[in-house]
Amino acid sequence: MSLCDQCIGACCREPWIESPADFVFPKVTEECLAVRGREGPCPKLTPDGRCSIYEMRPLLCRIGQAGDWWCIEARRNHGLA
Ligand code: SF4
Ligand code: SF4
Repeated sequence: MSLCDQCIGACCREPWIESPADFVFPKVTEECLAVRGREGPCPKLTPDGRCSIYEMRPLLCRIGQAGDWWCIEARRNHGLA
C-alpha cells in the first residue's frame, strides 16, 4: 500500500503557494489554478481524499511525489506523520 493510499489527499487540501516556477511556466500554473483555485481544498477532491479527475489532472498535480517536501509539509499541516 502506498503512502497516498493511507492519506486524505493532504496535498490537495493546501492553499496555493506561489513559487518562482510559476513565473517561468505561467501556462502550467494557469492550467492548475483554473482547476483547483487558490484556496484549499481543491474542488476536485472527493470526500475520501481521492482526485475525481485523476486521469485528467493538471500537469502540476502530476509533478508532486509522495514523500517530497510539499507532501511532508502538507501531511504535517493535517496532523499526519
Ligand atoms: S502526495 Fe503526500 S500529501 Fe499528497 S496524497 Fe500522497 S501522501 Fe498525501
Ligand atoms: S486536481 Fe486532483 S490532484 Fe490536482 S489538486 Fe485537485 S484533487 Fe488534487
